[in-house]
Amino acid sequence: MIEPIAAHVELQMRLFLFRLGTTGSGSPAPGYLVQTADGTNILIDTGYPRSMLGAVPPPGASGPSVAPGETIDQQLAGLGLSPADIHLLVCTHLDVDHAGNHDLFPTAELIIQRAHYESAHTGHSPRFAATRDAWGHPALRYRLVEGDTVLVPGVELIATSGHVPGHQSVLLRLPETGPVLLTIDAIPHVAQLDPETRTIGPHDMDEAGVRASTRKLVDLIAREYIQLVIFGHDAARWQELRQAPEFYA
Ligand SMILES: [Zn+2]
Repeated sequence: MIEPIAAHVELQMRLFLFRLGTTGSGSPAPGYLVQTADGTNILIDTGYPRSMLGAVPPPGASGPSVAPGETIDQQLAGLGLSPADIHLLVCTHLDVDHAGNHDLFPTAELIIQRAHYESAHTGHSPRFAATRDAWGHPALRYRLVEGDTVLVPGVELIATSGHVPGHQSVLLRLPETGPVLLTIDAIPHVAQLDPETRTIGPHDMDEAGVRASTRKLVDLIAREYIQLVIFGHDAARWQELRQAPEFYA
């Protein structure tokens, strides 16, 4: 007897990459969607505010921009999803290029490091004020985590303070690709892999923390034999990556 093929179709963990705008220096502002084998949709960051859509800087001027199709709701729609389909929203940190649309996800549970949540609400609030209407929306439900945390099997949050307090990177374990590291802004560019000599950016709040977190991730890459490292804002590397609707499995 021949069984229908559909009986054998099983979900498999997948990683989708979204471009959610372009920074003032021409780098992508990425977001990520992880779909787990049990059907959980995990979004990582929400990009520049959708209010920036179409506000292109004049020729010759530099500034962040969001092109048509690049808002998070548009990117999700391209995969047949809406914000209500997202179960977990990982907040790597609350800078404007990462947290501009959190208010679209009141039905998700937002996952953030306690140190970052507290710093955004207190001492460093001016930096994160630009998108406070989004991430501080009263309808949002936050779960505060502390340090390295297994979110679900195959998705690990890696505490990488330095760029900001309580910044988090993400380690994924995909069935075919193997381990994948999303450094986010702990290591924005491939040229910044040396903890001792790497450049420190103008938005890095704590140089010692940046160097320690870079060391932590470099050690992780070696220990886990990570072949695919996706840097936070690397324009050249981005060109070589699969972007949604393509995916990594
Ligand atoms: Zn960033």
